[in-house]
Amino acid sequence: MCEECYTPQRRATPLLKPTDCLKNHTQYICGTCGRCICIEHDPKNGLQRWNFPFKSSEIAKLYLRAADHTMKKPCGIYEIKAANGRVSYKIFASTADMQSFLQKNKDKKRGSTAPVFIMEEYVEYPHTQVRKLTADEIVKYMAER
Ligand SMILES: [Zn+2]
Ligand SMILES: [Zn+2]
Repeated sequence: MCEECYTPQRRATPLLKPTDCLKNHTQYICGTCGRCICIEHDPKNGLQRWNFPFKSSEIAKLYLRAADHTMKKPCGIYEIKAANGRVSYKIFASTADMQSFLQKNKDKKRGSTAPVFIMEEYVEYPHTQVRKLTADEIVKYMAER
């Protein structure tokens, strides 16, 4: 596992429309393994990819570093259960954030009381970059996937 971005899957992200994401969105570029994680703020609501629900905690983990870097602290992956029984995973900066999300979203019945995954501490790494890729870098990155 990459100690900086928490996964051994060095080119797993972006998951959806990878070329568009690399071209149009600011990326967290892991200084250790080179993996790009979308860290773009949606201009409409200020949210980033890591604020959205994920199908599994493994997928959420691919975005956890972007959350930790943004919040400058270890964020937690929480299991959220909807009233209809569907389970999803969301990253929150704290259990209090998770609870206020549940209060605002009444269709979500409950969340795990503790994160299903969280790093012990937040560590900064010296070679991290947060920027858009160049056209050449996009070609190279896509070829490595
Ligand atoms: Zn993106
Ligand atoms: Zn990495």
